[in-house]
Amino acid sequence: MDTTASGISGSGSNSSDALDQSDLPTVIGPYFIEKKLGSGGMGTVYLGRHKTTQELAAVKVLPASMAHEAGFVARFDREITAMRKLNSSSIVELYESGETDGTYYYAMEFVDGETVTELLERHGRIPWRQVVEIGVQICTALKAAHNAGIIHRDLKPSNLLIDDDGQVKLTDFGVAQVFASGRLTVTGGVLGTAEYMSPEQAQGKRATKASDIYSLGAVLYVMLTGRPPFQGKTVLDILQKHRYSQFDSVRRVVPEVPVWLDEIVCKCLAKKPEDRYPDAYVLSLRLQEVPKKVDFRDEQLSQFQNSVTEETVADPSQVSHPQQEAIGGTLVRDLFRAHFESEQQGSIVKRFLDNPWVLLSLLAMMLIGGYAWTQSQRLSDEDRFGRGVELMSRPAGPAWEVAGRDFFQPLLEADPERWQPEVDSYLKQIEVYQFKKKLLGRDLGRDELPESEPEAIVRQALEMRNRGQLGHSREMLVSLRSLIAGDPEHTELAGVLDQMIIEMESEAHQQQFEFVEKALTRANTLFEKGEVDQALEIWLSVKSLYDQHPDVQPLVQRAEASYLLATGVDLNDAVRRPADAKSSEIDSKRDADGPQKEDPQHP
Ligand code: ADP
Repeated sequence: MDTTASGISGSGSNSSDALDQSDLPTVIGPYFIEKKLGSGGMGTVYLGRHKTTQELAAVKVLPASMAHEAGFVARFDREITAMRKLNSSSIVELYESGETDGTYYYAMEFVDGETVTELLERHGRIPWRQVVEIGVQICTALKAAHNAGIIHRDLKPSNLLIDDDGQVKLTDFGVAQVFASGRLTVTGGVLGTAEYMSPEQAQGKRATKASDIYSLGAVLYVMLTGRPPFQGKTVLDILQKHRYSQFDSVRRVVPEVPVWLDEIVCKCLAKKPEDRYPDAYVLSLRLQEVPKKVDFRDEQLSQFQNSVTEETVADPSQVSHPQQEAIGGTLVRDLFRAHFESEQQGSIVKRFLDNPWVLLSLLAMMLIGGYAWTQSQRLSDEDRFGRGVELMSRPAGPAWEVAGRDFFQPLLEADPERWQPEVDSYLKQIEVYQFKKKLLGRDLGRDELPESEPEAIVRQALEMRNRGQLGHSREMLVSLRSLIAGDPEHTELAGVLDQMIIEMESEAHQQQFEFVEKALTRANTLFEKGEVDQALEIWLSVKSLYDQHPDVQPLVQRAEASYLLATGVDLNDAVRRPADAKSSEIDSKRDADGPQKEDPQHP
């Protein structure tokens, strides 16, 4: 009997042509083998039936060569013991493990369905609502595992099985660790799943919960777009990209994906683990919000559209003919949609003052404030933290105050050493929010004099900021900060100011990014309409203005790529000789072999 698994290939497969059913082992441990289900990076999987219980199982046989690796057996036993602890309907159940004739195997729940890899092979990509449903189920699996102290380390589409009822089951927990020995390294090609590996794992560091969140981000990405975030010719190439490259946003590849989902995927794929979601639970909450937000937005859109159309019908003289068309047509809808989506990315103060979500959350807070408090009394510390983080991910508003009062403060009081590092930055943000609210509240209501000179300056700076004078506003705060440095009376204010300055700087960066991104979109439209000169001018300007700005680098690269595609000329060369960098380059590309023509419009 030969139970040795043969091929060690990159990714799991069970397509019929790849499944050679000859040389089937007849028995493995207590299982009669019925057929081969597939083979992957770490062995071959068979369908087996238990000799006595008749129960079906998927029996995975590990390559014999691996058993000779130093420490393999100990690691195998340790991981199997750990996996036994897992008990979740979203995780493939492990039945037993053993060794026959030097071959290691383990038997697990047989999932009659298909892997996400196969689903993608059939459909190319998966509709976003279904991706959200699958994503939430994967979060459930990860949460159960992480709570038990187990990291998956190798989350990828071929490890995700979906049964006929649409139930997702995650498999191969901890298996990557079993094979994590010197020879069988990632770059040795055995794991072959570089596409879903976190930057820290790519660097050879230990995987953490956050590494699984990154891999889940990559899995969400491939389901939504049909391709992983990073591709390359070699494993090393892909690993480098995880560490240093930017991926195309999901919406750039598939524009109909909601902006909220795009942002979630981006956050999961953050290079720094601390920039990702703190845990799978918070991520699942965020995912579940997406369809609700989209439905709410669409409902608002149609109500808005109906009311505008009704008004227009009632009094058509109010608007001119082209306006009527615009209102009845898609323009208003698109504008409104853009408005809704841009609000998600707006500044903190703007969001606070001018955001329907704030109004909604105000109302919701009144209703659920008491409920949240009662709930918070029954939660575990981790859950309490997750709830707080979830509330903080909403726009600055009453939700933040609930987060501070009902979730973060109690944690801090219970165990300051454990929770101080986790909740500190949130509490600072809340403090700034409350400080601003106090100042602005006074501004809006009773015309009482500010309490102190520093407060008056902050108020002035905030008003300036609201008028769009971000630079001046920041300068005032920085000066005030220097003025009160070391003054024991104002230590609290100093902390608030530091945080406000940080927020203002990141807001400025975001504004810069959005400004350049908008210009690039305009350039693309111009180029498509044949206004080539203007498009080239924009790409060129982006390069000359922002070449030295690290925050805008991905956009500069985008400008370079567009320029190169349109002209065949490297934008670096064009910037050095701006006078010729116009449509003459297009001409010179058209008659690549001929003498360079002079552009009649630019003699
Ligand atoms: P990989 O190493 O790429 O994750 P595996 O060796 O784990 O691949 O699995 C190979 C194939 O066997 C999978 O693609 C899947 O089709 C099938 N398979 C694995 N586990 C099960 C299971 N528990 N139930 C049914 N089929 C399975």
